[in-house]
Amino acid sequence: MRSIAILGATGSVGASTLDLVRRNRDAWRVTVLTANESVEGLAALAREFAPDIAVVADEARLAELRAALAGSGIECAAGADALNEAAARGADLTVAAIVGCAGLAPVMAAIERGGTIALANKEALVSAGEVMTAAVARRGATLLPVDSEHNAIFQCLQGNRLSEVRSITLTASGGPFRDSSREEIEAATPAQAVAHPNWDMGAKISVDSATMMNKGLELIEAFHLFPVGLDKLRIIVHPQSVVHSMVEYRDGSTLAQLGPSDMRVPIASALAWPRRMDTPMGSLDLAAVGRLDFRAPDEDLFPATRLAREACAHGGAAPAILNAANEIAVAAFLSGQIGFTRIAAMVADMLNDGPMPTAPGTLDDVLAIDADARRRAGEMLQTV
Ligand code: NDP
Repeated sequence: MRSIAILGATGSVGASTLDLVRRNRDAWRVTVLTANESVEGLAALAREFAPDIAVVADEARLAELRAALAGSGIECAAGADALNEAAARGADLTVAAIVGCAGLAPVMAAIERGGTIALANKEALVSAGEVMTAAVARRGATLLPVDSEHNAIFQCLQGNRLSEVRSITLTASGGPFRDSSREEIEAATPAQAVAHPNWDMGAKISVDSATMMNKGLELIEAFHLFPVGLDKLRIIVHPQSVVHSMVEYRDGSTLAQLGPSDMRVPIASALAWPRRMDTPMGSLDLAAVGRLDFRAPDEDLFPATRLAREACAHGGAAPAILNAANEIAVAAFLSGQIGFTRIAAMVADMLNDGPMPTAPGTLDDVLAIDADARRRAGEMLQTV
């Protein structure tokens, strides 16, 4: 039996992970479950999976969590420090499924323990970049990518050398507006933006998919996970989301990973790694899929991938600023404060707003850059 800690248990990736654990109760012992504020959902999961500890990030919800878990013998805790402490307890596998840079400190706490981390929380790696990969190397930790594209690349790289890679291509569904006109995109509502055609995901990543910032963040994520150089990383729009990404080698061979658009497949790959496990997914029926289409991304309509590439090339503090600005802009869009196209425009404005801070060397540096960028993005919102 292996122990598993799930950070962000009440979210979409958390639910998919726990679905697999539920089907394999003999293989896993859940030790940590966390949420931000969904006390009811967290308590229900805790009663079902009986972790050692349940943590809610919002300190004001601790009494509610304690009441919901009274008599269960499960330890209850709240707040950022408690979240980090729970992540630092270590487990055979830690699933990092918190959304946004809020997940960074807990992921780093798990990495400092030197364990194996199944990483869904891309914003943490985008913001911390070298700080995180250096900690992984220093502590002998293992990062297993859960993002479907990176998991696909990881699988396509098995048994091969990075030095023999000619290019890595991330596929993108193109999101709900991939066939929309500029006018339709300018008028896009939050409800339209979160209605992803292929994937069922949390609200933030759904909006990121609609703006294509998700692919931009993934480009930076790939840059750190698979160090082949930015010039070898490509993006292609593939509306069917069947091919999850591809690796081309020096001899002209391209390996691709295909599968259904269900996060349980890449999550299962990380849970069972280096082996395989059953999932409830049926076989891929390519005859039913019929055709696989590919086209170049339109960076005039969706500038986010260009912004991410530029931030990645700049390095240092730029990716953390890009991510923080995007998080604030997406939240403002979802609450009706700004229009859809303002999201990428705000990210661009933030990257061009004054001198770039010094490159972060520690977790605290990254958190300070993130906090400052959020403050400035908040001020920018007051002027729109
Ligand atoms: P959700 O919004 O569905 O869930 C987010 C989880 O994080 C919830 O448990 C939430 O708790 C918790 N959380 C949110 N804010 C905080 C905070 N400030 N402090 C502590 N915990 C917090 O997100 P997803 O599951 O969609 O995405 C999770 C991560 O995985 C993201 O980084 C996303 O980019 C990545 N990812 C997601 C995919 C998907 O299919 N959903 C695919 C690939 C990557 P609460 O319920 O209380 O709000």
